[in-house]
Amino acid sequence: MSMKNKMAISDIYFAGRRVIARVDFNVPLDKDGNITDDSRIVGALPTIRYLAENDAKVILVSHLGRPKNGPEAKFSMKPAAVRLAQLLGRPVLLAADVIGPDAKAKAAALKNGEIMMLENVRFHKEEEMNDPAFAKELASMAELFVNDAFGTAHRAHASTAGIADYLPAVCGFLIQKELEIMGKALDNPERPFVAILGGAKVSDKISVIESLLDKVDTLIICGGMAYTFLKAQGNGVGKSLCELDKLDLANELLAKAVAKKVNLLLPLDNVVAKEFKADAESFTVPSDAIPDDCMGLDIGPKTIELFSEAIKGAKTVIWNGPPGVFEFERFANGTHKIAEALANSGAITIVGGGDSAAAVEQFGFADKITHISTGGGASLEFLEGKELPGISCLTDMPSGCDCSNCAGCH
Ligand code: ADP
Ligand code: MG
Repeated sequence: MSMKNKMAISDIYFAGRRVIARVDFNVPLDKDGNITDDSRIVGALPTIRYLAENDAKVILVSHLGRPKNGPEAKFSMKPAAVRLAQLLGRPVLLAADVIGPDAKAKAAALKNGEIMMLENVRFHKEEEMNDPAFAKELASMAELFVNDAFGTAHRAHASTAGIADYLPAVCGFLIQKELEIMGKALDNPERPFVAILGGAKVSDKISVIESLLDKVDTLIICGGMAYTFLKAQGNGVGKSLCELDKLDLANELLAKAVAKKVNLLLPLDNVVAKEFKADAESFTVPSDAIPDDCMGLDIGPKTIELFSEAIKGAKTVIWNGPPGVFEFERFANGTHKIAEALANSGAITIVGGGDSAAAVEQFGFADKITHISTGGGASLEFLEGKELPGISCLTDMPSGCDCSNCAGCH
């Protein structure tokens, strides 16, 4: 999917117009309702500031958590609206509902440059059903739609996709950046192009492997995923994660890598333990000598060297999924070293996936990575080459119109 012909926030004239902007303020809260990590709100600031500074009347909409039974105080957007106001240094109105009388009255009374937030859009079950009548009600409060929630761009919900049936729709700066960097990496990468896939579930990532085999020069498979492949090659993998029903598929992918002349790398050695525990006794064994009563929980030193060399020679690196159980200090070394190799490389480095992004943060390398994707599931589907509903719904650039500042002629 390409963004070349989709309209972006900078293509639109906003002054005096009501804009509904889908943001991802699905922030983690502690039991007292305090925000424990506001990075998603911080991430949306450039778009919100731009809209306000360009005299739009800004209506923000987001979900938070998974409310299942209509409005519930513990899922209110209030903490997010308060935090946003602090970050912006200007007031943010909070509506008492989503498409109810309070939201509509506040939206109608907005002045240029003012910002309001609707209540949690998932207080209506119609949101996740992508109900057209609900999407139309949302749309009725505004004249333009801006989608800046990459984390939900792979979902066809009313506030992420359905609403674009009723309003001209453009992406905000966050989505624009995601698409520019990841789009270029996939469409026209600087080579060598290395992808690292790890984490826990082969079944979730198998189609990503399939699609990346058409694009990369080197594919590194590690983490819990590696053992299905090592097993397919005839190794014993003991009690390691292994999806026995995927062995044939693993063999097909190994054969495809050979046919495509992709350099496919698997762990040479593994840090194993008898139990999945933070303080489990651990030792390092080659991949063809994993004891029956052990499970692989991290990559060993030879593997770290092999993978680091591949990363060092790369011009583009995409990383999704940690190579070990980095939540346990004893099994965090491989993940730490891979993060470090990315940080020290001169390549364009892209990290997708919630746990991989968390690892990069935890080890202090975040500012040395070109791009950390804000959407785990969305970035995975993007890498798979799937259409994301939150992006395909955006308005195409007008053809034959020289006007660069016009939403009317979309
Ligand atoms: P991401 O969120 O980056 O996409 P995943 O969710 O797919 O990554 O996988 C992350 C999880 O994979 C982590 O919780 C990590 O502990 C686990 N993991 C990594 N290596 C192994 C392994 N060898 N065995 C079991 N779990 C693993
Ligand atoms: Mg994860």
